[in-house]
Amino acid sequence: MTSSGPSPCRVIRCTNPSGGRLTLNEDDPDVPIMEIAVCNEHLTQINAGADWFYDGADHMIHMGRDVAPRITDFQIREGIDPLSTLIVHSVSDGAPRIDEYRLSRPQLDQLAALIRGEQEWWNITKDDEGDSPASESPEP
Ligand SMILES: [Zn+2]
Repeated sequence: MTSSGPSPCRVIRCTNPSGGRLTLNEDDPDVPIMEIAVCNEHLTQINAGADWFYDGADHMIHMGRDVAPRITDFQIREGIDPLSTLIVHSVSDGAPRIDEYRLSRPQLDQLAALIRGEQEWWNITKDDEGDSPASESPEP
């Protein structure tokens, strides 16, 4: 099958011909800028703030129900049974949703350690230059 004319829109499941180009990585100087063909309809939605995700594995853009829900808040509710409940508030395709997951104490500890580790990582990059010999930040 050969294709002629404009390349198709790279939004997953869209069959429209491309009408514009979406530019990726404009804000990241460490990554080359990339342009992806999208149809006018999807370009308008993206420019209006619609949620989207670029999947580098298949070089496709995911939008709408194909984008994983975005977590907006979460809580842990400990009950009297051995399992705790993780309550996750998220937005999926523009609609708020709440999901509950039950997890064991070891799973809860693992999740907490993961979150704490991430916080430590941020502290290290801010407060500790580590073994980097080319530190340019003067000590206060
Ligand atoms: Zn499209």
